Amino acid sequence: MSQGEIERAARTIRRGGVMVFSGAGVSVESGISPFRGAGGLWSRYDPSFLEIGRFMAEPEECWRVIREIFYGTVPEAQPNAAHLAIADLEAAGYVHVVVTQNIDGLHQLAGSRNVLEFHGTTRALACTRCGRVGPVGDALSGPLPPICAACGGVLKPDCVFFGEPIPEEIRARAFEEAARVSAVIVVGTMGEVVPASYIPRVSKENGACVIEVNTEASAYTSDVTDLFLRGRATEVLPAIARALAPGVVPSSEPAPDSGSLGG
Ligand code: ZN
Repeated sequence: MSQGEIERAARTIRRGGVMVFSGAGVSVESGISPFRGAGGLWSRYDPSFLEIGRFMAEPEECWRVIREIFYGTVPEAQPNAAHLAIADLEAAGYVHVVVTQNIDGLHQLAGSRNVLEFHGTTRALACTRCGRVGPVGDALSGPLPPICAACGGVLKPDCVFFGEPIPEEIRARAFEEAARVSAVIVVGTMGEVVPASYIPRVSKENGACVIEVNTEASAYTSDVTDLFLRGRATEVLPAIARALAPGVVPSSEPAPDSGSLGG
């Protein structure tokens, strides 16, 4: 990314009405392993422990893996500079919603308020029988699987397992927001997981500018992206936030007058 590209992004974001659409790449530098890619969880674990059918049949066995992966290091993970910059952009009034595919809760910890967790969260447990949702608390310190105090049903992380639909309310709200924002910042996602991956495409179809922040080209880059800022989320997002900070005078670098961002 160049400073000129950062300033182009800042000019678009300054108009407001921005959605941030985030994925695993945002949380990697908080120490959270992505599912996909080299070194990702799926290169080390059989993903079937997150299939709802297998989970219901073998909750104790699945929970041993779930506890190790999601409740070992994740509870101590802290938001990084990218999460904090996104929260700053919301506090400044530019970003009005964050739609995340991540289940780690780090956007909220960083201070983001309007967060739609498309795939749910590991920071709460849901009963598979009565549907009650509650905090994790000390539920995982005893024998596995953890059991609902109200009905005796098996508890699961309150995130979307393979074979489960996206909760309708979250799905509907995310796509409504996608259709009405004027810009979307895609960050840390390769755009491979449906239906979440359609969100920036819906924004684009409705006239939004798509700004992409990734370390490598994604399914969006040559397709819907208007401005590709290649780099780590922890470098690019703070640079954008600095460019938008009050009192920062844009550099004298001439603005590349290329079409879709509207200069
Ligand atoms: Zn229950």
